[in-house]
Amino acid sequence: MEKKKGIIAEFKEFIARGNVMDLAIGMVIGSAFTAIVTSLVNDIVMPLISLITGGISFTQWNVALGSGKEPPVLGFGTFLAAVINFLLIALVIFAVVKGLNKMHDLAEKAGKLSKKKEEAPTTKKCPYCLSEIDIKATRCPHCTSVLEEAKESAKADK
Ligand SMILES: [Zn+2]
Repeated sequence: MEKKKGIIAEFKEFIARGNVMDLAIGMVIGSAFTAIVTSLVNDIVMPLISLITGGISFTQWNVALGSGKEPPVLGFGTFLAAVINFLLIALVIFAVVKGLNKMHDLAEKAGKLSKKKEEAPTTKKCPYCLSEIDIKATRCPHCTSVLEEAKESAKADK
C-alpha cells in the first residue's frame, strides 16, 4: 500500500514537472501537423507531379521486378512522396526554429538591457584625465594619478 502511494506521488511529481505536458502537447501538435503535410503532399503536390508526368498517379509509379503473381515492386512514387513529405516538414520546422531563435535573441537582448540598468556602476571617471576606469581603482591606469584623495574628497562632499 505504502509502496503504491510512493509510486503515485512520484508519478504526480513527474507530471507536475511540466516538461511532460510540453512533450505531450508537442506530440499532439506534431502528429496533427504531420497529417497536414502528408495531405498537402498526397492531395496537392503529388497530383500536380502526376499532371506533369502525364497523368500517372504516383502510387502507380512503380516498377515490378520480374514476373509472376506477386513480384517484388520498386515503389518510386511512394518513396518520392515520402521524400517530399520529409523535405516540406524539415522546411517548416527550420522556419519555426529560426523564428523561435530570433524571438529568443530579442528576449535575451531585452533582458540584458534591463539587467544593465539594474546593475550598479562598475566604472568611474578619473578626475584628472576623465578616462573611464574601474570603480575600485586607487590609481588611474591612463594618467597614473593617485585617486585616493579624490575618493576622500568625494566622500567628504557627501
Ligand atoms: Zn587619469
